[in-house]
Amino acid sequence: MNAGSSSIKTALFDGALSETLRIEATGIGGAGALKVADTSQSVDLPDNASALAAIIEALEQQGIALTDLRCVAHRVVHGGTDLTTAQLITPQIRQQIADCIPLAPLHNPHHLAAIDAVQKVAPDLPQCASFDTAFHATIPTVAHRFALPNQPDLTGLRRYGFHGTSYAALTRKLPEHSGTLPRRLLALHLGNGASLCAIKDGQSIATTMGYSPLGGLTMGTRAGEIDAGAVLALVRMRGLDEADHLLHHQSGLLGLSGLSADMRTLESSETPEARFAIEHFCYWITRQAGSMIAALGGLDAIAFTGGIGENSHLVQSTVLENLRWMGDVPSYIVPAEEELHIAREAHGLLDQT
Ligand code: ADP
Repeated sequence: MNAGSSSIKTALFDGALSETLRIEATGIGGAGALKVADTSQSVDLPDNASALAAIIEALEQQGIALTDLRCVAHRVVHGGTDLTTAQLITPQIRQQIADCIPLAPLHNPHHLAAIDAVQKVAPDLPQCASFDTAFHATIPTVAHRFALPNQPDLTGLRRYGFHGTSYAALTRKLPEHSGTLPRRLLALHLGNGASLCAIKDGQSIATTMGYSPLGGLTMGTRAGEIDAGAVLALVRMRGLDEADHLLHHQSGLLGLSGLSADMRTLESSETPEARFAIEHFCYWITRQAGSMIAALGGLDAIAFTGGIGENSHLVQSTVLENLRWMGDVPSYIVPAEEELHIAREAHGLLDQT
């Protein structure tokens, strides 16, 4: 289960970890849609509780009660510095996820709401959590620490990194394409949110997202890399709330193009602004790739994943062309299998108990 602010996406797996069904509720907060396998219907989804109820009802219509399941496994964006592996959710783990709300105010509350709602309907059903930050626990201090003074209330201000579920799944899947796992791998997760990860011997050693999922690359609506002085100036000009909204929801591809956050829409548009937005997206991938490659001390392979990474030939070819100075490095497209990874982690936890 991947519960966000405007959508709840679920995938059902059997005991052999084969995906058997997908149910997604989107457009929560208004006129929403419920998609069961390939069939979508419009439904009123005023809030998350109604979306979850609609998902549970759709499951029941397929002959499956929530209580029939072995486990509900959640994607949780932030696990802070302590939750660095998947966890069986106990009251203590639930509290630790709640303690991370200040670090991920747009995400963790929705995960908790889903966890609580499932617990209410099926109190004895085990629930697990896989954390987006966990894969990056191997990043060395020199890479994750900001150059801030050593004061106790500032220790949480560090780079965490995100999309870890996607990078972990990619690291596992890539050898099916490449034979062995490349030693120095540049992984690109390019979707609405986008980041790069430097993966050395299967472990994250650097990533472009930092304290929050706002950092790094130009994204659908998020600004990505912007220096702290500019952020402070923006806050002075517009106030905190408006600056926050602008950086998260009105910037990135949407802000640059004035048209759309959606890569497909931009690719089919002829306007100079849409073209510039794509150029900006690819340029900053290239610039930040240079930083990841330096951290790796060279490069053995490149792997693309995510909606744009897997599907946009324009972005793939532009980035590869921009990185041609690296020499002939093999590149791969690896479909994101985040749900399978989460299910696999939950399986592993339940087998231990
Ligand atoms: P999220 O980060 O919300 O999970 P996705 O990984 O699904 O998002 O990526 C969504 C992005 O992928 C959108 O910008 C969409 O336009 C883009 N995308 C999907 N298919 C294509 C395609 N065939 N060509 C170009 N872009 C695509």
